[in-house]
Amino acid sequence: MSELTGQSSVSSFKTESFTPTPEVLAAWQAVYKDMRDEFGEAVYRSWLKPLTLQAYYHGTLEVSVPTRFMRDWIQTHYSKRILEMASVKYDDIKRLEIVVVQTAQAVETAPADAEAQKAKGNDNKAVTMDDPFDLASPLDARYTFDSFVVGKPNALAHAAARRVIESASVPFNPLFIYGGVGLGKTHLMHAIAWAMKDAHPNKRVMYLSAEKFMYQFVRAIRSNDTMAFKEFFRSVDVLMIDDIQFISGKESTQEEFFHTFNALVDQNKQIIISADKAPSDLTGIDERLRSRLAWGLVADIQPSTYELRLGILQAKRKQLNANVPDPVLEFLALKVVSNIRELEGALNRIVAHADVAKSAITLESTQEVLSDLLRSHDRRITIDEIQRKVAEHYNIRLADMHSARRSRNVARPRQVAMFLAKQLTARSLPEIGRKFGGRDHTTVMHAVRKVEELVGEDVSFAQDVEVIKRALTG
Ligand code: ADP
Ligand code: MG
Repeated sequence: MSELTGQSSVSSFKTESFTPTPEVLAAWQAVYKDMRDEFGEAVYRSWLKPLTLQAYYHGTLEVSVPTRFMRDWIQTHYSKRILEMASVKYDDIKRLEIVVVQTAQAVETAPADAEAQKAKGNDNKAVTMDDPFDLASPLDARYTFDSFVVGKPNALAHAAARRVIESASVPFNPLFIYGGVGLGKTHLMHAIAWAMKDAHPNKRVMYLSAEKFMYQFVRAIRSNDTMAFKEFFRSVDVLMIDDIQFISGKESTQEEFFHTFNALVDQNKQIIISADKAPSDLTGIDERLRSRLAWGLVADIQPSTYELRLGILQAKRKQLNANVPDPVLEFLALKVVSNIRELEGALNRIVAHADVAKSAITLESTQEVLSDLLRSHDRRITIDEIQRKVAEHYNIRLADMHSARRSRNVARPRQVAMFLAKQLTARSLPEIGRKFGGRDHTTVMHAVRKVEELVGEDVSFAQDVEVIKRALTG
């Protein structure tokens, strides 16, 4: 292909008068030959080899490449030097124009067959690949460090992220962040990308999902553009891939990623990866790659704690500028434990509901608005369980939860159990009463109030209740 391309492929979909003169043709052939020495074998092979002389007019040398992506790349990196080289050979050449012409047609066209070329010329299609930064995934403006609440479960990942941004060199490679669904991996990744761009405006920071990486790779294969793909990914300064588990079982994508990974590490470029599992637990990922992924720092984001959930809710309340009473936030932090996304969703729902209904947000309205969500969570905690835990904690007999005994040492724990039953399950007061030896709903109500009161007055009592609550919800 190179011989044909370099020496004689002068595709003439341009009109006759644009056909290069013999002097221009000779100059181009000489330049084409010299480019290899000038730029080196790798650059020549990756970028310059497909360059094809197309036309010459009024001092403009027009050459083509197969994709817009390559055109842009050559334009910014090599075109100035190529023009210099050309004008040294033939000083009428004043400008270099790079156009996009699909390779197959440019190469297959024989210069002698002018008519056929003209017919074919119109078929030349421009571009198969998007602009380089289309390859990236968009960054969410809300996902910054400022909006990321740090707590015990994500402290390590957060600190590692800050290190990567603040270090002059690459502190560990890769940084591997993992954790369950909705725990803030993507948020943290975006925050890193934003901060990197801020702190190092000259660095090329590339963030994309593993899914998009694979999609781009497959598309590059289809359009015969893997060379550009490879070059592009090997030219970034910071490569960030979100949800790497997506390429499980996708062997050729893994292979490609593996090579990209190694090339970047060799050049001391930072790589940051996220996944839903630790490297060693990633099934369907090649052993070689898995061990590479664990080379640097592996930081997990653990399931959230009550404190972190409350902190996130408080931050979110501020952001929404919504009037949500503290007890409602505490209630949500206690109830919606599965993941942060769901927690945020719950808060958004009650705020939106109050907005539409033009009513204040209360604990009652919250329970009502979120009843479906809460019920699905409550299925996990039963009154039996609560009674068992409470009895255990206070070291009383389980039977005393149902008994009529009124002595303080059994009555108080029973009230705590009723309180927790009200808080942690969706049971009504009469239902709860029945479970406690057929007591009246007013008794339950009284118990709930009493416990609330004591929690406010007695720190050690409050701690007891909290410990039991956590044992049940955690
Ligand atoms: P993952 O990628 O781990 O599935 P996301 O990053 O998409 O999770 O997080 C889900 C939602 O929870 C996002 O809206 C995110 O902003 C929010 N979130 C998660 N962790 C935090 C945190 N520590 N501080 C603030 N918001 C958080
Ligand atoms: Mg995510």
